[in-house]
Amino acid sequence: MIVLNYHELVRASPPNAWCLTHGTFDAHLALYRDKLVSPQTFLENCDHPKAGRSGSVLLTFDDGFLSDYTHVYARYATTGAIPGFMSFIPVDFIGSPGRMTWEMIEEIGRSGVAIGSHGMAHADLTTVSDDELDRELTVSKSMLEDRLGRPVTLFAFPYGRFSRRVWDAALKAGYTHLFTIQLGYHRGFEPFLYSRLCLTNNMDEGYMRQHLRDPDGMRGPAWKISTRLGLYRQLMHLRYR
Ligand SMILES: [Zn+2]
Repeated sequence: MIVLNYHELVRASPPNAWCLTHGTFDAHLALYRDKLVSPQTFLENCDHPKAGRSGSVLLTFDDGFLSDYTHVYARYATTGAIPGFMSFIPVDFIGSPGRMTWEMIEEIGRSGVAIGSHGMAHADLTTVSDDELDRELTVSKSMLEDRLGRPVTLFAFPYGRFSRRVWDAALKAGYTHLFTIQLGYHRGFEPFLYSRLCLTNNMDEGYMRQHLRDPDGMRGPAWKISTRLGLYRQLMHLRYR
């Protein structure tokens, strides 16, 4: 399976590289609409050995932007045009300008959107103290769980930054699925890590087509060589220790 990671969607003039126009998102959607799976289907199948190279596509959105609610949910999820998505929320941002309110998060959560934590303050978790790391992971989780009334077991690393210390703490906090922004099919180098393509607005339709056809093809020589030698996991452990 292939996991895509979007951020804010706007009508025009994206203010940063991670923000896409509605038109670009529509163009992407036209490429993979038939392959989309719901978060529930993804979670039921993501550990199955045969799920590895299926071309199914899961949509994820980070940072709790208002457009998750006003655009993705209202225009697509409620009409059945997309079978759902994951929304990763930095809890400190809830209700601030341009971000969803608690009521919106509760509503989309009730309607089948899978809500995950993106920490509290969108901190680079590789740089914070142990106490701060624990707070980012556990307080965000419990606040989301209190509001949603169910366990929150999905976590996306802010900025995609993580290390062994960070993933150990996330697992200890009770998260089961940790989402990175590494290239390739959905399975990361550990069974609890899930790779995603982080979309930027300089990735054109051709790039997207190529990624959907062969997400591993976009990976660099270090991945190709170490995978061939069976050393990729060890290499990643050195990199993320
Ligand atoms: Zn983020």
